[in-house]
Amino acid sequence: MQRDLSVLWHPCTQMKDHEHWPVIPIKQGQGVWLEDFDGHRYLDSISSWWVNLFGHNNPHINTAIKQQLDQLEHVLLAGFTHESVIRLSEHLVQLTPQGLEKCFYADNGSSAIEAALKMSFHYWQNCDQQQKNKFVCLSNSYHGETLGALSVGDVALYKQTYQPLLLETVTVTSPDCFNRESGESWEAYSLKQFTVMEKTLAEQAEQICAVIVEPLVQCAGSMRMYHPAYLSKLRQTCDRYNIHLIADEVAVGFGRTGTLFACEQAKITPDILCLSKGLTGGYLPLAAVLTTDTIYQAFYDDYTTLRAFLHSHSYTGNPLGCAAALATIDLFKNTDVIGKNRHLSQYLWQKAEPLQDHPHVAEVRQHGMIVAIEMVQNKANKTPYPWQERRGLTVYQHGLQNEMLLRPLGNVVYWMPPYIITEEQIDHLATVTIEGIHAATQAA
Ligand SMILES: *Cc1c(COP(=O)(O)O)cnc(C)c1O
Repeated sequence: MQRDLSVLWHPCTQMKDHEHWPVIPIKQGQGVWLEDFDGHRYLDSISSWWVNLFGHNNPHINTAIKQQLDQLEHVLLAGFTHESVIRLSEHLVQLTPQGLEKCFYADNGSSAIEAALKMSFHYWQNCDQQQKNKFVCLSNSYHGETLGALSVGDVALYKQTYQPLLLETVTVTSPDCFNRESGESWEAYSLKQFTVMEKTLAEQAEQICAVIVEPLVQCAGSMRMYHPAYLSKLRQTCDRYNIHLIADEVAVGFGRTGTLFACEQAKITPDILCLSKGLTGGYLPLAAVLTTDTIYQAFYDDYTTLRAFLHSHSYTGNPLGCAAALATIDLFKNTDVIGKNRHLSQYLWQKAEPLQDHPHVAEVRQHGMIVAIEMVQNKANKTPYPWQERRGLTVYQHGLQNEMLLRPLGNVVYWMPPYIITEEQIDHLATVTIEGIHAATQAA
């Protein structure tokens, strides 16, 4: 720990916090468990920041990476190609919503978003629509931390400081259902919110390249959720006004919301789909940006027309990452993961639901394998606890003392476990969570 703090600067961390709370060195991982050097273990209920799907040290993915390593560790993807990236692209085209035909690769979620934004903008340039230069995003959205991705996000904690550096974007009220009236359905509320989007697109269509959304769950935005009907409306309206729809499934892709891709629940195909996180089963940084043949063809021309998409990263399509992704897809194909998750989701709900009666819980919500519990100061009018009180930290600490890695987002405690979690482990998770929420909401 001392060696770490003398040379490392950790992500998303006020380093001074580590004067009070030690950083935890992990020695090994196995299944849902992470184990430190003192023999303490932690159930990874947040899938190591939402990336892990089939457990740590998964034998099938391990083998695939080792085999790839002995064959080819890396080759540039311009002018060259390799078997794993071709196979992965074939699978992704087949598995993702109908109409996505081409795969472009990046290294992580944020760089996938950057590629998607540039691709959409450049498409309109290539179509002689130079006036299209704006992006529309939802309030409370999150698309990553690089400057372009941050521009289309709306989580003040990450964005505010950098505002002067960012692109100008159009932010539209989110369909997130937290503030619906009691008795109002998710569907009715999300559809009501759509009127703002409809108006914005109608008025500014000429200038808009694309609308970018996180389908169904705004994960970094406190796991706020909405109804798929919003996405169906959005698809129709984008079509009507000649605007791209970019679906950022970096967090929700690969089964998180109960279907392989969240867009399936709205029966839509986006113009551009961004995937990362679960893509490699949580093993290696890799991202895919899928798009339609229409977009692809707008770039396809003689070199001297200078219409090509000259965007690149050194490690584009890295073979080890592709091998991990192929092994992850195998695991989906070999067992009925989605069907099994349906049962697990029901079990998660059964365990979380009683918290709805807790005097300091405003809402327990779920989309598939994501459950969120929102703690509030005042349940009746949903007044949040002041962020300075850091109530979530009490839950985090209580978790660590009880073999549990829980990492609340502010006042929102959530479960986003690897799909191999058992009912017994969910029981443990629920017990520690409930105790943690009691502890966090008791203190004055
Ligand atoms: C995590 C995340 C990103 C950014 O991915 P990184 O790999 O962390 O850069 C983008 N969009 C969404 C929806 C995410 O959850």
